Amino acid sequence: MHYFTPKRCPETNKIMYHDKAQALRAADQSFVERGAELWVYRCEYCGTWHLTHRDPRASYAHVPLNQQIKPHSRKKGYKPRRR
Ligand SMILES: [Zn+2]
Repeated sequence: MHYFTPKRCPETNKIMYHDKAQALRAADQSFVERGAELWVYRCEYCGTWHLTHRDPRASYAHVPLNQQIKPHSRKKGYKPRRR
């Protein structure tokens, strides 16, 4: 017996869907089967489609773990220019 074994993205370890329709069908299936609402987005690393629990439209406010370290703008050294 041959079973469909989904390939996983090396970067995100998510299941790779080759087109949006396929990903949307899987998202729909998970909602029907488990009540889990999933969002579809295109992966910037592998170029295929992944499912995510997070609304990608709301994820812009979310800072990914690898981007949490941001250089702080230091106002301390700021001096107003004297004319
Ligand atoms: Zn990927």
